[in-house]
Amino acid sequence: MSDARGPLALARDAVARGERTAESITREALAAIDRQEPSLGAFTAVATGQALARAMAVDQARARGEALGPLAGVPIAVKDNISTRGVPTTAGSKVLAGYVPPYDATVITKLTAAGAVVIGKTNCDEFAMGSSTENSAYGVTANPWALDRAPGGSSGGSAATVAARAVPASLGSDTGGSIRQPAAFCGIVGLKPTYGRVSRFGLLAFASSLDQIGPFAVTVDDAAAVLSVIAGHDGHDATSAAEAVPDWSGVTMGASVNGLRIGVPRAFIEGVDPEVAKAFEAALATWTSLGATVVDIALPNAGLAIPVYYLIATAEASSNLARYDGARYGYRTTLTPKDSLRDMYERTRDEGFGAEVKRRIMLGTYVLSAGYYDAYYLKAQQVRAKVRDDYAATFTSVDVVATPTTPTPAFRLGEKTADPLQMYLADIFTVSANLAGVPAMSLPCGLSSEGLPVGCQLTARMWDEATLLRAGAALQQATDWHLRTPAGITL
Ligand code: GLN
Repeated sequence: MSDARGPLALARDAVARGERTAESITREALAAIDRQEPSLGAFTAVATGQALARAMAVDQARARGEALGPLAGVPIAVKDNISTRGVPTTAGSKVLAGYVPPYDATVITKLTAAGAVVIGKTNCDEFAMGSSTENSAYGVTANPWALDRAPGGSSGGSAATVAARAVPASLGSDTGGSIRQPAAFCGIVGLKPTYGRVSRFGLLAFASSLDQIGPFAVTVDDAAAVLSVIAGHDGHDATSAAEAVPDWSGVTMGASVNGLRIGVPRAFIEGVDPEVAKAFEAALATWTSLGATVVDIALPNAGLAIPVYYLIATAEASSNLARYDGARYGYRTTLTPKDSLRDMYERTRDEGFGAEVKRRIMLGTYVLSAGYYDAYYLKAQQVRAKVRDDYAATFTSVDVVATPTTPTPAFRLGEKTADPLQMYLADIFTVSANLAGVPAMSLPCGLSSEGLPVGCQLTARMWDEATLLRAGAALQQATDWHLRTPAGITL
């Protein structure tokens, strides 16, 4: 139906052709953020001065006839757990209040080198732990489609501001679904790359064997443009892979799914909300009409992914978060002369961390402790290997796996905060990709009767983001779900 360029391509092309200045595009984004923040609460910091300076530098480079980078003049919002030199970085936590990193994360260095304009930092669940962006020390973010709904999480601010069309693209991080689930709730594209595809240098670690940085955008093509810039090996991150970065820019052009084999784990997705099921089936029907075949597959261990994820992620979090002790940076409790070093550690962590983070540190410490390690952590690692084997087996007969991204559309703010287990269960379709390391993407595939977006998730083989992009672009060329804009907010 449509192969319209997305907001990122429009901004980039307008700057490249001299039709608009990077400065005017940046000012427009800043004005939209200003207008929307009172109802959305998507940002923890807006880097007005730095963004305008960068935009003007792009305009000056163009005036001098210099070659422009692939994202020249494109405003990009960044999740607040990614380090930005000179701009506060809190990961949504009081424990990092006032912390201004002295260096940029590698993804920021790459974005800046490509000419992108980092416009600000977006709200997220504290240390990316959550599925609703309600676990932030800096307030709640609303879903632009319905302001009483959660935008998803943990990268809720990054999703909400792109959905509200204030910025063309943003970065999030995804440990168990934190890019894909908010993308689904907010009706946009969100991509978790293959583990190792994108450097995590400068990402405030949550669970290091699962964390990946990835893009949010309105179109698959726009997401590919950001991924192309941030991907690649980085000597500062030993887990980033030497794998060659393909040129994804052409993948989405006239993308074909003819002959593509789409595996659907029918038994696993049974029981999702009927409206989610309907939108998901419609997406499958579209791909089928374009020449793909849909095959029923089994992912026998997928049902175990939630407990496995919440054991491994909490274990790693308990270790990663040990560094926030009040000694070096961020929050430190008020000390009196009679306080010991231990008092400082204990009170700093008690006052600095929120309830969900404390819950996870305790869970994680417990599953790693002597006597329980074998029963919980080791067992979880064994099942994780089986989840990975399931994908390896499935990808011998299909090219992608398709599921709904979430069992329901966006839930209400406050609906699940009292019951952490209910919140965890919302991640049922997203955590497996992190456990297996494979790339996965959510893209809009419908609206519920209440006008809330529904997301479809595609998962592919290790390093095969190209197939995700191709299949996603084909869906967007045949439908216009991605072009719908939220009614809940003034754009
Ligand atoms: N919702 C999941 C959690 O709370 C995933 C979070 C994430 O991907 N960062 O852990």
